[in-house]
Amino acid sequence: MTLLYTCKHCGSEVGRLQPAMLDLDKIGWNVLSMEEKMKLINYRQDQTITLHSICENCQQLLDQHPQYHELDYFIQ
Ligand SMILES: [Zn+2]
Repeated sequence: MTLLYTCKHCGSEVGRLQPAMLDLDKIGWNVLSMEEKMKLINYRQDQTITLHSICENCQQLLDQHPQYHELDYFIQ
């Protein structure tokens, strides 16, 4: 399986993981949405599962403008 992390704000690819074993702590299980957890629970071996993360650019923007943390989608 492949875990594909994309930025939830701008949609760019943040990274990929191809874990031999699914380590729930390492993939950020605690911060996943219910929908994402369902995808992981129902994964098949050949599947790519897309998870939402945040890219460096958007992280920087958030650091510079902390008030944006309250907005889920500040970049359209
Ligand atoms: Zn981004």
